[in-house]
Amino acid sequence: MPDTTSRWFAKPLNFIVKHTLLLLSLMSITVMLVAFSYLSRSSEQATQDSAITSAQHYLQALAEFRTLYTTEVVQVAKRYGLKVSHDYRHQDNAIPLPATLSMALGERIGGHQSGAKSFLYSAYPFPWRQQEQRQRLLQPFARDAWRQLNAKPEQPFYRFEDYDGRPSIRFAVADRMREACVNCHNSHPATPKNDWRVGDVRGVLEVVLPINQVQAQTQSSLRATFLVLGLMALLLALVLWIVFTRLQRDKRQLTASNQALNTQKEEIERQSLIIGDNHQRLEKHAAELEQANRHRSDFLACMSHEIRTPMNGVIGMLGLLLNGELNPEQLRKAKVAQSSAGSLLALVNDILDFSKVETGQLNLECVDFNLHSLLNELGQTMAFRAEAKGLELILDTTDIQHSMVKGDPGRLRQILTNLASNAIKFTEQGEVVIRAGLQQTDTKNLNFTCSVCDTGIGIPADQHAKIFETFVQVDASTTRQYGGTGLGLALCQQLCQQMEGGISVSSGVAKGSCFEFHINLQTSQQSCQLVPRVAVDRLRILIVDDNATNREVLRGQLQHWGVKVVEAASASAALQILVTTDEQASLQPFDLALVDMQMPGIDGAQLAQTLQADTRFNDLKLVMMTSMASRGDAEYFANLGFSAYFPKPVSPNDLLNAIAVLIDGGQALQQATPLVTQHYLQSLQYEPGSREYMPVSPQWSSNYRLLLVEDNNINQQVALGVLEDLGLTADTAIDGIDALHMLKSSKQEQTYNLVLMDCQMPEMDGYEATRRIRAGKAGADYQSIPIIAITANAMAGDREKCLAAGMNDYLSKPIDAELLLETLMKWLPSEKPQRVGTTQPVPTSAPTEVPEAGLGATVAEAPKVLWDKAASLKRVGGKTERLNILLGLFMKDMPERMVSLQRAVDDCDLKEVQQLAHTVKGVAANLGALTLQELANQIQYCHEPHQLTGLMAAAQLAYQTVTEEFNRHLET
Ligand code: ADP
Repeated sequence: MPDTTSRWFAKPLNFIVKHTLLLLSLMSITVMLVAFSYLSRSSEQATQDSAITSAQHYLQALAEFRTLYTTEVVQVAKRYGLKVSHDYRHQDNAIPLPATLSMALGERIGGHQSGAKSFLYSAYPFPWRQQEQRQRLLQPFARDAWRQLNAKPEQPFYRFEDYDGRPSIRFAVADRMREACVNCHNSHPATPKNDWRVGDVRGVLEVVLPINQVQAQTQSSLRATFLVLGLMALLLALVLWIVFTRLQRDKRQLTASNQALNTQKEEIERQSLIIGDNHQRLEKHAAELEQANRHRSDFLACMSHEIRTPMNGVIGMLGLLLNGELNPEQLRKAKVAQSSAGSLLALVNDILDFSKVETGQLNLECVDFNLHSLLNELGQTMAFRAEAKGLELILDTTDIQHSMVKGDPGRLRQILTNLASNAIKFTEQGEVVIRAGLQQTDTKNLNFTCSVCDTGIGIPADQHAKIFETFVQVDASTTRQYGGTGLGLALCQQLCQQMEGGISVSSGVAKGSCFEFHINLQTSQQSCQLVPRVAVDRLRILIVDDNATNREVLRGQLQHWGVKVVEAASASAALQILVTTDEQASLQPFDLALVDMQMPGIDGAQLAQTLQADTRFNDLKLVMMTSMASRGDAEYFANLGFSAYFPKPVSPNDLLNAIAVLIDGGQALQQATPLVTQHYLQSLQYEPGSREYMPVSPQWSSNYRLLLVEDNNINQQVALGVLEDLGLTADTAIDGIDALHMLKSSKQEQTYNLVLMDCQMPEMDGYEATRRIRAGKAGADYQSIPIIAITANAMAGDREKCLAAGMNDYLSKPIDAELLLETLMKWLPSEKPQRVGTTQPVPTSAPTEVPEAGLGATVAEAPKVLWDKAASLKRVGGKTERLNILLGLFMKDMPERMVSLQRAVDDCDLKEVQQLAHTVKGVAANLGALTLQELANQIQYCHEPHQLTGLMAAAQLAYQTVTEEFNRHLET
């Protein structure tokens, strides 16, 4: 039922809703029309009512006047004998009849009252009005009025019609016979009727009144108003129609776009369902990928370890093989194998690094390091390679003012090594220039910029962008001709970007290449720390490594320094050893344990945790040695309780320094945050001035004569300088043949007491020379002369090889003064002991006075002996020719050295100053230029810039004066 009802209502309701505007317009027009007709009719009615009333009043006034005139005037006049006649104007003593006078009055009033006219007419007229009355009664209104009023005398008769062209009311009332008039009329001689009675209708009294003008105007303005209103309503309807039509159109459009939107919404919903689906699938894939990535990096790390461990062995053993007796073919093959092994190791490292970058696992370290040291060491390494190709390598670090900075030194070295290696590899002649600079960007950050430029084959412009991609080389012949994998630059770019920097190249074919990169470093709060000196031969160290070769290498090195070594092939064995040591009071506790990371069963990390949790081993220092090369792990290992961490293989120098830092436990250890690393060690400085650590030096016999066999000029200088510091002098031979010759030709009274023998030399190497000396080829007296090997080889087996060749002892380069002294003390009988550095050469001839420098107390302390000619002559075995050669060398090399030293002093580059001063000191010492030697010595250990300037001025003066002395000597 409600349904049917709502259906019934629905249709009209819909119609109303649909045609609202039309209906509204129609309704308003209808209302207006109705209002208009009602108002106009009621206004017309009001107009007519007022006209009727006016006419009534008019006629009543005339009737009253006539009655009044009849009773008050006519009656009196008659009494006085006056005549009452219609023709009163033409008669004497006559007054007008009441009807005549009231007609005249009507006419007068009409003249004033806007055209009102009054008439009196009858069907019974007096003869003088007969014609006029008949005429009037011919008019329809008069005729109708006479008839109507005769029938109903009480009811007035009226009609609205135009009269004289104006809308008017014609209003007529019956003129009835009154008491006062009956007699007269009945008795008048000319009366048309003489039987009048009171109340008879005598005639019709009509007034014609024009309808009030204002009322007419009101009506017309009402009409005009309605017309305007109508028009406005129409206009409004039109406007509404337009608006409505627009609205309808907009509604239609809105509906259409709504529909489109709905369709789109549905489509979007469908798509988002698909996306959601895909997202889930992607998430699943991502998880799978992540897992695969983890597997891959685990696999790579594992493979890297597995490959690196035997590679260490291969490279080490090839090194040993190369040091042995090989025929030329074997030598060539071994060298090829060594270089291939090196390349393979580099490739493994690069691939591992790259996979780390790709999986976002390459964590950068942020440790304090010495930028100067890093660059200088790199420069030295690269200089060797460059020299082998006849290239000049120039390292310009003049724009670096801060030595200590914070960053990842390993990665920086990797970038630099890569670029410098490429530059050397792709350059056949000319030079490689490494120019580095450091600018402070804000209080915390430094911008490190570096360019590596060469004069090599260059790179075509279209290849500039490509060479930074992985495995891209300029052309296919590159690998064949130069080797390489095309990974290096890609890695450099990734590393630079990760260090908030970038890399670019400018190059042209045959025009050389210039690679420039910049990275962000941070300022360091640390000052340069010194490597402490400790007596390592009193230490007991535990090596924990499952790899026998690794243990052998470490043991050899440690034993070489006199360390007591115990080996453990697993973590559980190590624990057993440590517990036993702790339980037996007779056993010396371990100072340090070198722990490998990857071991079957308990690994290095777990071992460290176990040891850290056990209070018995609180004093045991732990050093992590891993072949996983997990950079960024410093924090992790520090948390495990390790005090130092090294990737394998570790250099003997680093190992020794690390042990010194850990055992000393001083400032150098405290500054190593979070723990001691290879790079931290490289930031340390050696301070020969810290002599309180140095063992006592003996008083050597003044007759001691040493022979230094060394092909390299710089190494000669270094060795001579160190010997000088120890109070010894030596002659130099440039190779084995020269050494044999010098020994053979030495005079009876000037025999040599000891030979310091380099192993690798052209013509004849140290091993062969030793064998020959032992065979008596240098004379029977020298067959048992102590021969100490000084070699850059620090691999296990080197010592044995030297001993096998007949040498007595073994020292590794760079020469450590302390170790050299210990060794010399072993092989040279000494007299009473004396502190190192206090030995002063005693002048044996008249010394030349140094001129007054006038530079204050510091300089005044310099000895006044400018040139101890006798001592220098003695040192060269009294051979003036040899002395002259040395002086010639001095004249050739020294000017440049002094200029460099002066520049370093001016720049306040203390490290450079120390190095150069050391060299100047060594050379001056060899030649007996005592003043220059002492001043150079003071300069070397001076840290006060203003003192340095004074000392340098004095040194320049001493240098000039001694040069003049030398010249004078050479001229004579
Ligand atoms: P690799 O040196 O192992 O081939 P890199 O990524 O280091 O790989 O270099 C990619 C290529 O860029 C090199 O193979 C070589 O063609 C070109 N290249 C790099 N450095 C130089 C350079 N200094 N001079 C000329 N070519 C260079």
